[in-house]
Amino acid sequence: AIPARFAGVVGRYGPGLDEALVRRRQLRQALKQAVPGGELALVFQPKIDLASRRLIGAEALLRWHSASVGAVRPDLFIPLAEETGDILAIGDWVLDEGIRHLRGWHDAGRLADDFALALNVSSRQLQHDGFVEGVLRRVAESGLPPARIKIEVTESGFIHDLKEAQARLGALRAAGVGVSIDDFGTGYSSLSYLKSLPVSELKIDRSFVREIGHDADDQKLVETIIVIAHLFGCSVVAEGIETEAQLEVLRRLGCDEGQGYLFSPPVSVDEFARML
Ligand code: C2E
Ligand code: MG
Ligand code: MG
Ligand code: MG
Repeated sequence: AIPARFAGVVGRYGPGLDEALVRRRQLRQALKQAVPGGELALVFQPKIDLASRRLIGAEALLRWHSASVGAVRPDLFIPLAEETGDILAIGDWVLDEGIRHLRGWHDAGRLADDFALALNVSSRQLQHDGFVEGVLRRVAESGLPPARIKIEVTESGFIHDLKEAQARLGALRAAGVGVSIDDFGTGYSSLSYLKSLPVSELKIDRSFVREIGHDADDQKLVETIIVIAHLFGCSVVAEGIETEAQLEVLRRLGCDEGQGYLFSPPVSVDEFARML
């Protein structure tokens, strides 16, 4: 990203950068409208128990269709929202909306006892004072068993201040809310986090799953992650399962759960309710 103070200088070097900067400025402005304009939606991707192929959860994934700039991918707008701080309002919306739908399914008696909904939380949200209280208040108000909710956080959420993250995630775990490390194996992943962080689940990043059957070393890494996670009492989820071959290997290695296009892409709330 090019800092705003260089905008004029960089602009002289070509129209490409200018356009990119204009686009970013437009996106920043448009982002302010996302929550008040009702432009956000959640889609839901099923999570499957690999041994039984049973539906045992879902991950809520955010979609933004802006009135002014059109549909924008989360990979693009979430980092921007973290920069601008809009992620706090957006994150609150995700918690409210996710728990509202979960409660509807729960009250309608559609959920298996072990079904949990995973909600993604950005590092900036986790670091915000009042985050834990906000989650626990919503859980209490919903009347749902806390174990129905899982918080997914990436390593960037705790590398800044491991002690603080420990305390916050520990408070969620103590209340019975699930805590999952997302995209495990990328970035600064360290198995020692499993020792120091109170997590209940670990999600193996899609980039490793993709290499299963191609790269023997990646497969060994996946195997090691699964063994160590289990030793620490964490369950393991593989993301991005696209083929039966990947599924077979993951099952053989003892991976507990999976999600991916092989089972289902993320679907609308109506479609997900039909799957339940
Ligand atoms: P993530 O949490 O790791 O989510 C998994 C991403 O992989 C999703 O992309 C999902 O649609 C995609 N995916 C699932 N199965 C497959 C598969 O079999 N093959 C392939 N190629 N892709 C698959 P999506 O929805 O575009 O989200 C991208 C990222 O944006 C998420 O990665 C997450 O980091 C972030 N994100 C999404 N929703 C939220 C949210 O509500 N809050 C926050 N803070 N971040 C979110
Ligand atoms: Mg996730
Ligand atoms: Mg992930
Ligand atoms: Mg990912």
